[in-house]
Amino acid sequence: MKKERQGMRMNREYIVPAKNGIKIRAAKGATITIVDIEGKQVVDFFAAGVKNKNEILSTGVTIDCNESLAIKRDQCLYTNHYNKMFQIIEDTVGTHDLIHPCCRKEMYEYFYKNGKDHPSCYENITDKANEEGIPLLLEVHPFNIFMNTKFKADGSFEVLAPLSKANDYIVLKALMDVNVFIASCSVSESSCNGGRCKPIKVIIGTS
Ligand SMILES: [Zn+2]
Repeated sequence: MKKERQGMRMNREYIVPAKNGIKIRAAKGATITIVDIEGKQVVDFFAAGVKNKNEILSTGVTIDCNESLAIKRDQCLYTNHYNKMFQIIEDTVGTHDLIHPCCRKEMYEYFYKNGKDHPSCYENITDKANEEGIPLLLEVHPFNIFMNTKFKADGSFEVLAPLSKANDYIVLKALMDVNVFIASCSVSESSCNGGRCKPIKVIIGTS
């Protein structure tokens, strides 16, 4: 972990290796910057409240409150209690996904017949969530940062390679004290991560 002081701000910096995950505590008002170091890498982002561990990020509520399947700068991510959890304050890409659950062994088995021993965002997030005493999560619907899901008029969709290029980033401001769980997505079998899994960088900024 690298710490650097910029004026009055203290930044904590983390590298998440390919097909891996981390958990980080962020206080209300902190910024969470997620950098796609090499480009075309999806980042599964999930969070739970510190005060109430049963209050978790809800992509369904986020879609409901924003009345949109897309999410843009200045809009918020909401919890299952309909409270604002994060606001997107910077975004150099603008294309993300709110509909897909985490990749998991069962998904790899269903589509590719290779689920056994496959790393997955589900494990990379729930293992860390369990350490924090978050109640058992049977499903995780994360904010899929940089994931490029193209919808068609008939409601079907296609997952294309992310539009993110090297060093593109998004900045989320925490609107409550949170435990965040962040995974560099493990899918190399489709165009989801441009065919190759890569590391990401996370920077927590606190004043
Ligand atoms: Zn994944």
